[in-house]
Amino acid sequence: MSLIEITEVRKSFGSNEVLKGINLDVDPGEVIAIIGKSGSGKSTLLRCVNGLENIDSGSISVAGAQLQPDELHLKALRLKVGMIFQQFNLFPHLTAGGNVMLSQTVVKKVPKPQAEAMARKMLERVGLEHKFDAYPDELSGGQQQRVAIARALAMQPIALLCDEITSALDPELVSEVLAVVRGLAKEGMTLMMVTHEMKFARDVCSRVVFMHQGRVHEIGPPAEVFADPKTPELKQFLGML
Ligand code: ADP
Ligand code: MG
Repeated sequence: MSLIEITEVRKSFGSNEVLKGINLDVDPGEVIAIIGKSGSGKSTLLRCVNGLENIDSGSISVAGAQLQPDELHLKALRLKVGMIFQQFNLFPHLTAGGNVMLSQTVVKKVPKPQAEAMARKMLERVGLEHKFDAYPDELSGGQQQRVAIARALAMQPIALLCDEITSALDPELVSEVLAVVRGLAKEGMTLMMVTHEMKFARDVCSRVVFMHQGRVHEIGPPAEVFADPKTPELKQFLGML
C-alpha cells in the first residue's frame, strides 16, 4: 500500500484553479522531488497533503486514513506529516533545544524531560547536539534550518514535506542542509520535496514530478526525466530548448 495516495485532487482559489486533478501515490521510503515553474501549484500540493489547505474534490490519504476537512482530523494529520518551509520560523526567544521541545510539550503534551531527551537526540541527528543552548541569532541560516528539521523530526512524523528548504540560504550553506535530508532518505524517511537542486534530485530521489499549470506534466525516475524529457514544457524548464 502506498503511504500517501493523492487521487484526482482539485483545488481553486476563487476562479483560479491551481490543482487540476493531481494523481500521485508515494510508497513508504520514497523520495519524491517536485519541480516546476513558480506558480505551477507545487506549494499548494504540499499544503493540501499536510492539511494546511482543504481540497475541493478528489481525495488524499496518508497511511490509509483519508483526509477529512475537519479540524480534528487535520490536527491529527499534522502530527503525522511534518512540513519544513523556506523560512525556518524558529522562535527567536527560545534556544535551539527550546524550539525543538516546544511542539512536543505544547501539541503532544510530552513531559518536559522526555521532550528534552528527544530534542537532544534530534539535534544530534542533524549534527547540532552542541547547539542545544544557542539562540537562533547565534546560528547560521543552515544551522537554523537544521534546527527546523530537528523540530519536525521530534514529532516522529511518518513522512516529511519540504518546500524549497534551501532557497533562502546563502549558497555555501545549502549543502549542509541537503546532507541532512540525504541522511534521512538513507534511513528510509518518506519525503516529498519541492526543490530547485537538480543535482540533489538526480542523486537522491526515486522519482521526479514535473508540475506544469496545476497538473503532473511528467513523472518518472530522475534518470529518465532529466535525460529524456518528453514534453517541450519540461525541456524548456530544464534549459534544453
Ligand atoms: P508554486 O509553489 O509552484 O510556485 P503555488 O502553489 O504557491 O505555486 O501557487 C499556485 C497558484 O496559486 C499561484 O497562482 C498562486 O498565486 C495561487 N495561490 C497560492 N496560494 C494562494 C492563496 N492562499 N490564495 C490565493 N491564491 C493562492
Ligand atoms: Mg512554492
